[in-house]
Amino acid sequence: MASLRGALYMRRKPIPATRDPSISVAMPLTLYDTMAREKRAFAPRDPKRVTMYVCGPTVYNYAHIGNARPVVVFDVLFRVLRYLYGDDAVLYAANVTDVDDKINAKAQAEGVPIATITDRYLAAYNNDMAQLGALRPTFQPKATETMDGIIAMIGRLVENRAAYAAEGHVLFNTQAFADYGRLSRHPMDDMIAGARVDIAPYKQHPADFVLWKPSKPGDPVWDSPWGQGRPGWHIECSAMIEEALGLPIDIHGGGVDLIFPHHENEMAQGLCADHAEEYARFWMHNGFLNFGDEKMSKSLGNVVLAHDLVKQVPGEALRWALLVGHYRAPLEWTGDLIEQSRKSLDRLYGALRRAQDVTSSTSEPSRKFLAAIEDDLNTPQAMAELFALASELETGDAAVRARAKGELLASGGLIGFLQAHPDVWFQGGADEDLKARIDALIVERVTARREKDFARADAIRAELTAMNVEVMDNPTGATWRIKDPAS
Ligand code: AMP
Ligand code: ZN
Repeated sequence: MASLRGALYMRRKPIPATRDPSISVAMPLTLYDTMAREKRAFAPRDPKRVTMYVCGPTVYNYAHIGNARPVVVFDVLFRVLRYLYGDDAVLYAANVTDVDDKINAKAQAEGVPIATITDRYLAAYNNDMAQLGALRPTFQPKATETMDGIIAMIGRLVENRAAYAAEGHVLFNTQAFADYGRLSRHPMDDMIAGARVDIAPYKQHPADFVLWKPSKPGDPVWDSPWGQGRPGWHIECSAMIEEALGLPIDIHGGGVDLIFPHHENEMAQGLCADHAEEYARFWMHNGFLNFGDEKMSKSLGNVVLAHDLVKQVPGEALRWALLVGHYRAPLEWTGDLIEQSRKSLDRLYGALRRAQDVTSSTSEPSRKFLAAIEDDLNTPQAMAELFALASELETGDAAVRARAKGELLASGGLIGFLQAHPDVWFQGGADEDLKARIDALIVERVTARREKDFARADAIRAELTAMNVEVMDNPTGATWRIKDPAS
């Protein structure tokens, strides 16, 4: 473990001076820390090695768009940290839970090994999240590949009397850890009364939770000093963090549903397994994405799969929709939200398309944009600043336009927007066959016009209009867009 960390550390390249030093005095990054219940100025333990971990998906099915919310939110933070500290100074681990009852059930139903299921859905997940503009995290640890680390950590917890073995199980001893409940601020009695803990005869206290348990017959098993079995979910994350990044870390993230019990338990395990000083400097949690007045969730059945959406709507518009609200507030997922997001990007790409002859005079984001994004990732405010820059790009004098174009591209780029060529954006929403057919008609129309066959040119335009395609003629030819793409 230590050697892996050492190797990773040494592989780092020197940190590029990403940020213009004249701007570095502008505004410190502040982040809302769930532990402190307030915004705090962010300072990593080591600015040359900034660490972030986010709890990832259980890969037994396609991810829904609610699962994509933490991915996109923490991708924004990953990009901001890379901008502030340098690309190579930020280590981001987002795990994959590939040991789970639902995975086992699906593997048994299909008569295949669990890896067949998890490989299939992990590949789809990575593709879908890439379409939403999410950069691949530095590490994507899997529970099945961290088994030695998980067993070693449980062993240390037993040794430190923070855990005990009983009837083939190993349980965390919540009574031995005075700070249990500190993150979620759940008083012990509430936790039990709320029936959020399983009652079992082998538990010394109802709030004690499983670190290791026997597998059900037919399910995968791993050897351990406490018998064959499999780990509990919480210990997987603590061990994956320790192995991929080393404890403590700077930022730990996930959805608000994970604060209790998952993150409370993760922290208890880490602190009691020889990392007493600190587990995570900052705890960050995104609000729920709701659909039809309820949290989008597989168990409620009210899901829209990201896997389906990315085939129907440009990924950049979905990313925009996920960032329209502040990450800590609930977000209502509607068709209108998607349509408005697409129109917002039409507006920004439209300004860029009309300014193709303008040469940018800067490659730095605007100060107002930075101030917004560094204020606990205020994306709604940051997006408002993008519109302000687009207006300047349309109405300013030459110097203003040159600055505004550079700032618009750099600001948008910092959070994963506006990097496509405007023509490519306006051609989005059409499938490849349709695009080829439209391109062919446009070439034919240009030829017809050159040959002064205006009747044919008009007929082609009418055909394109019927296909909902708008043709924009320009001195070098013609570009097109779908006027009202199906969503
Ligand atoms: P799961 O696969 O349910 O463990 O969720 C993976 C990640 O998605 C976790 O960080 C969850 O907190 C988050 N998540 C799940 N459902 C939602 C939702 N409806 N809105 C926002 N985040 C969610
Ligand atoms: Zn986790």
